Amino acid sequence: MNKKDRLSYEKKLKLLNGMAMLIQSCVKEKELFDVLYWYLPSLYPETSGGIFLKNENDLKMEKVFSWGDSKCIEISCIPDTEFCPAVKRGRPVDTSKSDSEKLSENCTGRAYCVPLLDAVGVFGILKIESREINGSRHQRGLGFISAEFIALAISNLRLKNRLRKMTLIDPLTGLNNRRYLDDALKSEIEKVKRSGSNLGVIMIDLDHFKELNDSRGHDAGDKVLKEVSRTLKKGVRKSDVVCRFGGEEFIILICGGEYREFLNRTESLRESISSLSVVHRGDLIDFVTASFGVASLPEHGVDAESILKAADKALYTAKSSGRNKIVGASETGFM
Ligand code: GH3
Ligand code: MG
Ligand code: MG
Repeated sequence: MNKKDRLSYEKKLKLLNGMAMLIQSCVKEKELFDVLYWYLPSLYPETSGGIFLKNENDLKMEKVFSWGDSKCIEISCIPDTEFCPAVKRGRPVDTSKSDSEKLSENCTGRAYCVPLLDAVGVFGILKIESREINGSRHQRGLGFISAEFIALAISNLRLKNRLRKMTLIDPLTGLNNRRYLDDALKSEIEKVKRSGSNLGVIMIDLDHFKELNDSRGHDAGDKVLKEVSRTLKKGVRKSDVVCRFGGEEFIILICGGEYREFLNRTESLRESISSLSVVHRGDLIDFVTASFGVASLPEHGVDAESILKAADKALYTAKSSGRNKIVGASETGFM
C-alpha cells in the first residue's frame, strides 16, 4: 500500500470506530440505519450497496437500507436465501471472482457480500458494489469489519427489544403488564398536566371469575381472559393504554377527554364484555361480566397513587352494588 492509500485506510479505520460506537448506542433499527447512511458512503466512496435482513415470517431477505444507485437496490439483486452462498455458508463472497457462485439467478453485479451473523446464524447480508472492490483487499477487510460491527449492533438491539417485551408484556393476553403501567401512568400524568387535559383511569375486574374457573376449568378461564383482553383493546383508541393489572383485573388509561366521556366509553366496554360468547371445547360461555371503577385526573386524584385509589374505590362500590356495573369516582365522594 502506498503512503496515500495507507493514510486513507487509517482515516477509514477511525471512521469505522466512530460508526461502531454510534451504532451500539442506537435504540431503534431506524436510528441505526440513519447512522449507517452517513458513514457507509464515506467508508466506501464510489460504491453503492445495501443491507438485507431476513424477514422473520418467511425468512426471505429484504432490503432495509441502501446507499448509492447500484442495481443492488433492485429487487432482482436481493440475496436469495436459497441459493446465495453468503447466506448458505455464512462466509463473505466476492461475486467478481470468476469462480465465485452467483448470489442468485439474477445477481449480475460485482459485489462483495458479507454475512451478518448472530448466535443462531446468518440473519442478513451487507452488500457493497463497486468497480474497484474486486481489486482492493483493504476494501474487503473494511467490509468484513463493518459487517461484524453492524451485525453485533443489530443483534444486540433485537435482543434488548425481545427482553424488554418479555418484561413488559403479559404472555397470556399480549397486553402490557403492571410494570409497564407504572411507567405509562407516570408519563401520561405528566402529559396531561402539561396539556391541561384529563386522564381517564378505568379499573376493571371480571365478576365471579373463580366460579368460572371452578366450573369450566382453568383453560376456559384463560380463554376468557384472552377474549376479554381482545375486546378491551378493540374498544379503545390506539393512543389509550390497556394493561393486565394482574389476575382477572385490567386497567385502561384514556388519554384526553373528560369525566362524562370516560363514563360513556366505559359503558360501551361493559356492553361488549357482557355480550361476549366464548366457545371452549364445544362449551359455550356467554355469562362473562365485569365491574368497572372510573376516575378522572385531576378531579379525583393528582398523582398515580391517588388516581388508582379513586378508581379502586369506585370499582369496589360497583362490586358491592351488584356487579356488571360502572361506578364513577364522583359517586363515591371523590370530587
Ligand atoms: P369477584 O366478582 O368478587 O371479583 O369474584 P372473583 O371470583 O372474580 O374474584 P376472586 O378474587 O375470588 O378470584 C379471582 C380468580 O381469578 C382466582 C384466580 O384463580 C383467577 N385467576 C387469576 N389469574 C388467572 C389466570 O391467569 N388464569 C385463570 N384461568 N384464572 C386466573
Ligand atoms: Mg380481582
Ligand atoms: Mg373478579
